[in-house]
Amino acid sequence: MRSDKPRILVSRCIEFDHCRYDGHILSSPIVHKLKEHVEFITVCPEVEIGLGVPREAIRLVREGENVKLIKSMSGDDHTKAMEMFADDFIRKLPEIHGCILKSRSPSCGIKDVKIYPSAGRIASLPGSETGLFGKKILHTLVGIPVEDEGRLTNLRLREHFLTSVYLLWDFDNLETSMKNLVSFHTRNKYLFMAYNQVKLKEAGKIVANHERLNVKDVFTSYRNKLVEIISKIPRYTSNINVLMHVFGYFRQNLSKDEKDYYFSNLELYRSRQLPLIALITIIRAWIERFDDKYLREQTFLQPYPVELISSYDSDRGKMYY
Ligand code: SF4
Repeated sequence: MRSDKPRILVSRCIEFDHCRYDGHILSSPIVHKLKEHVEFITVCPEVEIGLGVPREAIRLVREGENVKLIKSMSGDDHTKAMEMFADDFIRKLPEIHGCILKSRSPSCGIKDVKIYPSAGRIASLPGSETGLFGKKILHTLVGIPVEDEGRLTNLRLREHFLTSVYLLWDFDNLETSMKNLVSFHTRNKYLFMAYNQVKLKEAGKIVANHERLNVKDVFTSYRNKLVEIISKIPRYTSNINVLMHVFGYFRQNLSKDEKDYYFSNLELYRSRQLPLIALITIIRAWIERFDDKYLREQTFLQPYPVELISSYDSDRGKMYY
């Protein structure tokens, strides 16, 4: 289904509504920025199953093999209602390209949710669980990038998430023709090389279509490969490998000082003192200077809108610059 913008499912308490149990709303710089660039579908599973605002907090409780969703003090059980809501909601959900859920929530959390032995004033158990709604999302929407807003403060995770969202959206918007597929594969060549060189070759074989499959089957198999490609975040060394390849396009035309400058920045990237975007900015300037039409199309050098670029990294606790 074609869409003007990527479609992202988001927990409604992040930047959209005061629907947390205590009536609060959460801020998230990336969700705030994305509002102009994507179509958000919001959901608050706890409100949807009839719990009001404000409301008694709920928690996950272990009962033998099972995990229950109960009110923290009264112990009222909302497990069935949440599971039924999640199944129904996901069934009716239109095509989406990503999902941002509230971290550590017993409903929306995708990891690190505290689990308790019972209701009442009692310490949590060792270990953690997945929120009930979050678990259904992860199990059902296989291949869709899912993150929580906390993890998206990490620069590499955020870059990976945004890249995956825009890649899936771009692919899902293609009209089904071999010409479009070849063009898609070509403009993503260096991005795929950074993600996984083996799978880049496998995707290339699908596009070559030596078995002469019909176009629809080729698209289905290519999309499955795409999901495999983005299933793991690229390593620094893979990005450096691609940066070296791309540098090769300009090597002959650069002065010694320009080359030295590029390589000193590459070393700073290798030692985590500069973000990838710093190197990409240098290359993009060369693309304009030498009018390189092939590289200008490469998504590795601009995988998502430039306005979404931010060098903030919670790992470093600061901006790079
Ligand atoms: S975490 Fe999920 S259930 Fe809780 S307030 Fe936010 S949207 Fe609602």
